[in-house]
Amino acid sequence: MELAEITKIVDDKLAQGIIDGTNIGNEMRAKMKLEIEEKGLKPYLVTLLVGEDEASKVYVNFKEKACNAIGIKNNVFRMSKDTTEEELFAKIDELNKNPEVDGILLQLPLPSHLKEQDATMRISPDKDVDGLHYISAGKLWVGMPTFKSCTPAGCIELLKRADVVFKGASAVVIGRSNLVGRPMVRLLETEHATVTLCHSRTKNLGEITRRSDIIVAATGWEGLITADMVDPEMKSVVIDVGMNRNAEGKLVGDVDYETVKDRVRLITPVPGGVGPMTITMLLSNTILSYKRKLNLE
Ligand code: NAP
Repeated sequence: MELAEITKIVDDKLAQGIIDGTNIGNEMRAKMKLEIEEKGLKPYLVTLLVGEDEASKVYVNFKEKACNAIGIKNNVFRMSKDTTEEELFAKIDELNKNPEVDGILLQLPLPSHLKEQDATMRISPDKDVDGLHYISAGKLWVGMPTFKSCTPAGCIELLKRADVVFKGASAVVIGRSNLVGRPMVRLLETEHATVTLCHSRTKNLGEITRRSDIIVAATGWEGLITADMVDPEMKSVVIDVGMNRNAEGKLVGDVDYETVKDRVRLITPVPGGVGPMTITMLLSNTILSYKRKLNLE
């Protein structure tokens, strides 16, 4: 599809109150593809897939297709489920040293005998395109250039594409994981929103969400945000990060979409909201890493 057509779909959906992550992601990917072609960029992403986790295979497949579609060179190293820590670290070290490689993605979860945190921290922060290394997180915290964790960075892109005003806005993030909630707080605050962080021990969650202009739900708790928890004057913008399977096996978010959608200004659906943006930001970080290597950024 042409970029102009995608842009029209995004704008039409926004006019209906829907932040369409699939097409906002497509729009960003189309722009990245153009830039890669026009400037002759040669970013290279390597994925490490250890073991036989079926969901991981599906995700890795999506990522391969997404890279191929916009012209990012990519390669998947498949390692057996019996891979030792020594073997995994040796592979990561080799990729860290390879000047051609711009991004290293370690697909999680790892088989249970491998320590995910140790393996993630083995990746060079210069190639940490997932933004999960503590050095990336630390740099984000102190305001230095870094790779931003893909999912919260994708949420910010969605809000920006929807022209949501951050300055002076009140925002609430529900969920405090290192993967989503914590970096989300920092990114919103960097955009000058005033942010409250909530979690499972928060009291009177509804009171906080009702007075928030921006609500980001990232808990893994199906239907946590209900229609009575949003601003009664329909001013809320809701970003639903949750990906849960309901009793019928359907993919649903943390927000009770059907009842909430008519009570808010803007909302992301699940699926088709935040999910596609996570891979989009991985592509964006890989291009950024390539540019940094060549001092183009
Ligand atoms: P996580 O590490 O399990 O963290 C969940 C957080 O939610 C915790 O901080 C927890 O509080 C809080 N929480 C749980 N139940 C709560 C409740 N009833 N009220 C208030 N807070 C509650 O999860 P995660 O990795 O951040 O992921 C969160 C969700 O996002 C999951 O559904 C996951 O599948 C989804 N996700 C989606 C994408 C995507 O690409 N769309 C990417 C990553 C994650 P405590 O700290 O007090 O326990």
